[in-house]
Amino acid sequence: MRQVPFLIGLAIGLAMTGCAAPEPDHEEALASAVDLVVAPDVEQRLAQFVPTELTADLDGLSEAERDVLRHLVAAGRLMDEIFLRQAWEGNPELRERLATADASQAVKAYFEVNFGPWDRLDGREPFIGDQPHPPGAGYYPVDMEPAEFEAWIEAHPEDAPDLTSLTTVVRRDGDGLGAVPYSSAYRKWLVPAAEHLLSAALATDNESLRNFLRLRAGAFTSDDYYESDVAWMDLESPIEVTIGPYETYEDELFGYKSAFEAFVTLNLPQESAALERYKAELPSLELNLPIPEEHKNLDRGTESPIRVVDLVFVGGDSKAGVQTLAFNLPNDERVREAKGSKKVLLRNVMRAKYDQILVPIAERVLAADQIAQVSFDAYFNEVLHHELAHGLGPGKLVIDGRETEVRLELKELYSTLEEAKADVLGIYDILHLIDRGVMPADLRATLEATYVAGLFRAARFGVHEAHGQGVLSQFNYLLEKGALELTEDGRFRAQTDLFPGAIRELASELLMIQATGDYPRAATFLESYGIATPAIVEAIEGLGDVPVDIRPLFPQADELTGN
Ligand code: ZN
Repeated sequence: MRQVPFLIGLAIGLAMTGCAAPEPDHEEALASAVDLVVAPDVEQRLAQFVPTELTADLDGLSEAERDVLRHLVAAGRLMDEIFLRQAWEGNPELRERLATADASQAVKAYFEVNFGPWDRLDGREPFIGDQPHPPGAGYYPVDMEPAEFEAWIEAHPEDAPDLTSLTTVVRRDGDGLGAVPYSSAYRKWLVPAAEHLLSAALATDNESLRNFLRLRAGAFTSDDYYESDVAWMDLESPIEVTIGPYETYEDELFGYKSAFEAFVTLNLPQESAALERYKAELPSLELNLPIPEEHKNLDRGTESPIRVVDLVFVGGDSKAGVQTLAFNLPNDERVREAKGSKKVLLRNVMRAKYDQILVPIAERVLAADQIAQVSFDAYFNEVLHHELAHGLGPGKLVIDGRETEVRLELKELYSTLEEAKADVLGIYDILHLIDRGVMPADLRATLEATYVAGLFRAARFGVHEAHGQGVLSQFNYLLEKGALELTEDGRFRAQTDLFPGAIRELASELLMIQATGDYPRAATFLESYGIATPAIVEAIEGLGDVPVDIRPLFPQADELTGN
């Protein structure tokens, strides 16, 4: 491990022209400042994540395809190493110290779950040591204030594209700031990862997979991901892989920097085909929105493919903390304009969360006669239609002749409102498709109970945080309309006859806030409905022993790569 800081220093020195290499012991200095005092309840914290084996049906794979998987898993493991450093530069050294200091298994495991010493379920408070979490993660100098970054760009506008790039890290360059491309900063892992992708490309006989893997391997050294993102959209392969720098949530300072991750998956073509037909319904779902015609967005593209897959291995960003069950990529607007985006649903992850979390939650919060109504089929469809609903409703706006977007008008409230919209509109759309005979009628009886249990699952991620407010708003709105009622023993019962009307009204309210870009109305809505009432708090407290999420284990990936 000692040579790691030196190698990074060397790469930075090469990449930053006219820039002094940072001291070789930079990382070490960061991590050795962390006191190895550990939170006393670390065992309980770890127990929030129930270890769960995720497997896929590999029986039909040829030897060559197993070889492809082997290389993809190996490349995926390298994403872990990169993301560990993106999350915080001091992480590798701290991991080493934990190993040699004989820290408990629970501490080591929880460090791995969180990719660092800060608890992702506890507002990034430290569970090892007492250093505050750096909002710029490992992307910026830890002592850099946002004002310094902004002032530097103001004084050196020619540096702005590199410093704000999705695929650079920002480092001190003498008295100033410099940008280091990912291909240099993470060369030690990107070069072997690219080699694994090229080996997999050699092994596969699938043309679209080979094309993606070759282009993506090239992107790891060129930092230009556009062409390989386009090739990813065109994948038609039994093995579906997503690997590279994607989401920007880890950069809490500016949201500029993308985090490396990997999903190695097996395609489920029959399930994917079944869902493709809902895509054809998107124009009719837009027409059916409960808002005036002039606010409907009738010329959105509907090209986005949908894939249902089983996860064989997850690496990097998406392995940290709470597990992703569906994603929609790429984020590059140029690719979205040209090719749309692809929704990927991780079926075995959803099944694991359903069994381990949703059913136990339903048993504790739902009225006794509604517990048995919860179904995996409803859960799966609610997640799918949540994802589809993100593509419906207002996006670009014109307000008083000014061109703008919902996102810009609703500012920091946007994502809370948008997530709530997707939840509610997803249910509204399923009800509509059942009415039209597009979805099976027997889904109807399971829809509400599954949705209510799902709200509790989401509310646990933080009733005091912004996203939690969107979830609480749904509870309180439905309670106010009588679509949900509180039983005498503190449980919740959905009122089937009142439910569709209340969902329609709520969808309309959320969509109209978006259509008018009305920030004060959004704030008022969240303030009046996003409240953790005593009944809800009590119900959430009663979930204490239900795990918050799964900690995925991948026995097949371990066997393939001999881990
Ligand atoms: Zn969403």
